[in-house]
Amino acid sequence: MSDHRILLLGPPGAGKGTQSTRLAETYDLDHITTGDALRANKEMETEYGTPGEYMDAGELVPDPVVNEIVVAALSNADDGFVLDGYPRNLDQAEYLSEQTDLDHVVFLDVPEDELVERLTGRRVDPETGDNYHVEFDVPDDPEIEERLVQREDDQEDTVRERLRVYRENTEPVVEHYREAGGLVEVSGEGTPDEVFERIRDVVEE
Ligand code: ADP
Ligand code: ADP
Repeated sequence: MSDHRILLLGPPGAGKGTQSTRLAETYDLDHITTGDALRANKEMETEYGTPGEYMDAGELVPDPVVNEIVVAALSNADDGFVLDGYPRNLDQAEYLSEQTDLDHVVFLDVPEDELVERLTGRRVDPETGDNYHVEFDVPDDPEIEERLVQREDDQEDTVRERLRVYRENTEPVVEHYREAGGLVEVSGEGTPDEVFERIRDVVEE
């Protein structure tokens, strides 16, 4: 059994995607990200409507839709995983605890004014899904820079709503893991390299 079952928690814009991608590459883990999986299925008809209807408004997609994605991904992740963007409420956290144990729970802490700046400046490469930033992480290759797009939910109004949804639904999840013990808090400020070093120290402890 691998000891690399990692949960990365943090508000929108904390750097979960950026750091999960690095963790997955470094430790050869599956990167399980509900945000990317849902974006790939934005138009899928479910009994609750399409995921896109919720995502574009900054609201949570209903639990049954998200849980199904996670359970399928976990069943393929025998050699360890890094979970990014799930669980986002207490019911999802309970469901997850019925599916798997976790070896590391890391909370990426970033102040709110910085989150807004990171999210509104985020740009995505539609070909690779990689995240960049207009100021903090500009691609070296001008061809990539040219094709970058902004996510619909990274407009300032939706960003504020996502942060509200985070405080209401996901902060209790952070508290839940903190009370259960084992939550390690890491500062998400500084360069992505600096943040990665901090997370690596936790994972290799
Ligand atoms: P970020 O981490 O930047 O907030 P994500 O890419 O993780 O964004 O998520 C984008 C959107 O996808 C969320 O605003 C929400 O609508 C939906 N989503 C992602 N993960 C979940 C989840 N675990 N539960 C419900 N909705 C989710
Ligand atoms: P999350 O998945 O938690 O929503 P992302 O990894 O997508 O966060 O990062 C949000 C935005 O902030 C992206 O534009 C990314 O390039 C940028 N970013 C990530 N880490 C840092 C950092 N340490 N410093 C500055 N900007 C960062």
